[in-house]
Amino acid sequence: MPRALVTGGAGFLGSHLCDLLLAEGYEVVCYDNLLTGSLDNIAHLSSEPRFHYENVDVSESLKYEGPLDIVFHFASPASPIDFPTKPIEILKVNGFGAYHALELAKAKNARYLVASTSEVYGDPLVHPQTEEYWGNVNPIGTRGVYDEAKRYAEAMTMAYRRFHRVDTKIVRIFNTYGPRMRLSDGRVVPNFVGQALRGDPITVYGTGQQTRSFCFVSDLLAGIYRLSQSDQSGPINIGNPTERTMLEFAQEIKRLTGSASEIVFEPLPTADDPKQRRPDITKAKALLGWEPKVALEDGLKETIAYFKGKLETG
Ligand code: UDP
Repeated sequence: MPRALVTGGAGFLGSHLCDLLLAEGYEVVCYDNLLTGSLDNIAHLSSEPRFHYENVDVSESLKYEGPLDIVFHFASPASPIDFPTKPIEILKVNGFGAYHALELAKAKNARYLVASTSEVYGDPLVHPQTEEYWGNVNPIGTRGVYDEAKRYAEAMTMAYRRFHRVDTKIVRIFNTYGPRMRLSDGRVVPNFVGQALRGDPITVYGTGQQTRSFCFVSDLLAGIYRLSQSDQSGPINIGNPTERTMLEFAQEIKRLTGSASEIVFEPLPTADDPKQRRPDITKAKALLGWEPKVALEDGLKETIAYFKGKLETG
């Protein structure tokens, strides 16, 4: 049976990755220090004999005794509200944590896949973003701790590929949503849905003309799994290219929740908030035969149902 180690395996994306790997026949070792992850996300796996969870801070050390086929490095806070409150943890997990994960992959002769991000493109001057674009990042801005940490993690990945011949893969993840996001995550989907369900004002930051493109979590994981099984190294964009303004998005969520909430405008939390973002997924289509399938309305309905349940149970 192939064995995978997932750092950040109790997080939003990491826990869905664990589910998918188990469904594909893997034994899964899940490490998480629960900084932003939650045991709730993996509670349904507690009686699964092929699943092993351990509370590990992979920035401190990362060890595993047995053989491993693949290491997925998914540990990292990823919401803009985490950037000012957990800046050192973010830098450490994408620096020391990535180093430990790469060293482990090297020692085990395992494949390595790192969760990178569209944030490496910063506030992009090229639209849509192709993998060839080097980005427009402010290293000393409030988003710099995340953007530069992920860029560093990519650089280290390529160093291990070129220097140590580790079979590495880099996925650049664009805005993703779905069940298991934290209600208090601060990102736009949990914010808007939570506000709409509670009847609170829906807070659009700035003019609401900035755009994002939202990918449902099952689509994203299908793309990542294909990359992990391919001979591609990336970086490769995985995301949904259907782009919307945040104002349109607020209106859509209001409609789908049947909410009477009013839409209000609040100042942008940071001047570095990217004005536009949409993945060019030509590579993912051509090299992995992947493209997203879930319509925004269907994905949002499932996500709304999840958040409704969370609000009811507290
Ligand atoms: N946003 C918003 N209202 C909110 C939360 C976010 O208008 O309550 C905007 C935010 O300014 C950004 C976009 O929605 O332009 C996506 O923000 P998110 O925090 O989800 O992630 P980002 O894509 O910026 O990393």
